[in-house]
Amino acid sequence: MASALLEIENMEVAFMLGNKAYPALQQISFKVGEKETVGIVGESGCGKSLTSLSVMGLLPETAAITKGGMTLDGKPLASGSAQEWSGVRGKLVSMIFQNPMSALNPLMPVGKQIAEMTRTHLGVSKQEGKRLALDMMGRVGLSRVDRLYDDYPHQLSGGMMQRIMIAMALVCSPKLLIADEPTTALDVTIQAQILDLLRDMNRELGTAILFISHDLGVIREVCDRVIVMYAGYIVEDAPVGDILERPKHPYTAGLLQALPSVGKRGRPLYTIPGRVPPLADRGTGCPFAGRCPSATDLCEAVAPELTETSPDHRVRCHLYADGGRAV
Ligand code: SF4
Repeated sequence: MASALLEIENMEVAFMLGNKAYPALQQISFKVGEKETVGIVGESGCGKSLTSLSVMGLLPETAAITKGGMTLDGKPLASGSAQEWSGVRGKLVSMIFQNPMSALNPLMPVGKQIAEMTRTHLGVSKQEGKRLALDMMGRVGLSRVDRLYDDYPHQLSGGMMQRIMIAMALVCSPKLLIADEPTTALDVTIQAQILDLLRDMNRELGTAILFISHDLGVIREVCDRVIVMYAGYIVEDAPVGDILERPKHPYTAGLLQALPSVGKRGRPLYTIPGRVPPLADRGTGCPFAGRCPSATDLCEAVAPELTETSPDHRVRCHLYADGGRAV
């Protein structure tokens, strides 16, 4: 991996309900290298979006980082004041969301919204802001940008709005882009175009990408490396090829089995039985034990540690507790 741009070390994030803290993320440690594309995959409630909101300093009011922390480009983030965070967002890290319509201001022309980003974060003149906005609109594949600059969000298609969001996120040349389910609301053809665009932007601008998705099929299109999360823990972390060809954790294997493919046409799609345990109902054992075909008494009683099975592959499962092959 290239030198670490984002480094998260033993982070815990908890929700405070009454006087009680409910950890929603535990023992989160990973790095994203310069220009690297890393995917975080898991079902709803696994903690992938909460991880990205922690990096953006956008945790909900009821949640807080209760252990560990992170650095971005060598700068400590977790303890930063609101002012420090605003210096980081946009310039060092920016984010695109699933639904661009709810992230864009419906009352402001889209081009102006991009230009405003440069005025806020780069302190450029109005004219320079417009020039940068038009340039970035062209780079993300939008045409007739002079006319489009003055259009309002409701005048654009879903795919065009997502391109505007990407332009807005990249116009200040951040080192890290967080893309949280950016294609989930789009139809399949537009989804493929947006994934192509993100890959191109990574190559052309050198922006590292942290790509959040529930869909391993989408992640494999964009990412070099995949982090699989379950019930607030990292359960597997490996290069994308290893995850697809040699998944180790039973949850990762289940996610792969649930992927549609030509060979499975006509057969009902596999779904992992059961559901992610709710926050208030997470015991002391492996959180996947209730759904795992390989669970033993040990799994019910003791939570496994994240173990290195090779220099670039980590897995949290008793089957690999010796760091080697499954027993
Ligand atoms: S620790 Fe046990 S229950 Fe958890 S994933 Fe591994 S085999 Fe399954």
